[in-house]
Amino acid sequence: MATPNFELFQPKIPNPPAAEPRPGEGKAARRLGVLPMPSLEWNPQVEKETAHLYERVKKVVPPVEWPFFAPYVKAINALKKERNAVLLAHNYQTPEIYNCVADFVGDSLQLAKEAGKTDADIIVQGGVHFMAETSKLLNPDKTVLIPDIKAGCSLASSITGADVRLLRQRYPGVPVVTYVNTSADVKAESDICCTSSNAVQVVESFGTDRVICIPDEYLARWVATQTKVKIIAWKGHCEVHERFTAAELRDYRVANPGVQILAHPECPPEVIDEADFTGSTSALIDYVRKHSPRKVVMVTECSMADNVAAEAPNTEFIRPCNLCPHMKRITLPKILDSLVYLREEVEIDPAIAALARRAVERMIALKN
Ligand code: SF4
Repeated sequence: MATPNFELFQPKIPNPPAAEPRPGEGKAARRLGVLPMPSLEWNPQVEKETAHLYERVKKVVPPVEWPFFAPYVKAINALKKERNAVLLAHNYQTPEIYNCVADFVGDSLQLAKEAGKTDADIIVQGGVHFMAETSKLLNPDKTVLIPDIKAGCSLASSITGADVRLLRQRYPGVPVVTYVNTSADVKAESDICCTSSNAVQVVESFGTDRVICIPDEYLARWVATQTKVKIIAWKGHCEVHERFTAAELRDYRVANPGVQILAHPECPPEVIDEADFTGSTSALIDYVRKHSPRKVVMVTECSMADNVAAEAPNTEFIRPCNLCPHMKRITLPKILDSLVYLREEVEIDPAIAALARRAVERMIALKN
């Protein structure tokens, strides 16, 4: 259905492919030193020491898989103490990471803010590159590591800082709101950031009749349905959420009478129209905690249902499984490597970081 206060900006020049994140240069390893690789043997001692952690995931991790995970879980938890490190795990990380080695779990902004409250020297990001950049922006004095530097994001790579400058030329004076799922380069060109949970509030905070809201077209379309402000959007999509269809959701309703459908706003509009509730990953988790629905479909990345299922025994989860290939680059072996060899370190040009930090901090100040 057409939304009268919505305009999609179509750039006349092709969007250049996003640059690959630069490999870490090993500076952290030179500063802090490499440690020996711990033993990864599965034995009765490891079984005993990790039994309480297996309890948390036994519904979603079969017993036959635990002997592979447990030695890594034990080694990572020991190395975090030795390094004075914390591991931040996004809601889309796999259950053995989310439940067994993470110190903080949540959406990208919650993670970065939590990390800032710790006295850890090192932050290991269980998530994708833009999240690690946000952690570095808010914790400039800490060493921030991402276990796989190629963990990207289709939304973040849909737009560059040059594209934002082009938008400013095309729409002079119109404020630019950028979703946190973007590179530091893009944040640096923006007036303020937003998340999927505060996007409407951020858009309305300017008091203007038009706002540029980028790069997620579907999030922007959803915002346009919630406000009178005219939204100028960009054609970026999350490759995970755009695969859901309304027909698929209707089939779930027919097959599961009474099911509650919870969708993330990165989904296409017809999917959101079909849902009972739309919200950020944290809002979806809160919904399950608060309402304890008998049956639920979480229309978002596949691992989230596994993670919430571990703490919601009275809810049956119907599981469409759209995996994020970028999130799945982060594994226990790579997290261990990261802690042993201190790679890959996330670094941001100080001039870009100062501007990008301002955009993130404006959003945080607004929220508070
Ligand atoms: S789920 Fe979508 S938005 Fe999130 S990291 Fe993957 S591609 Fe990016």
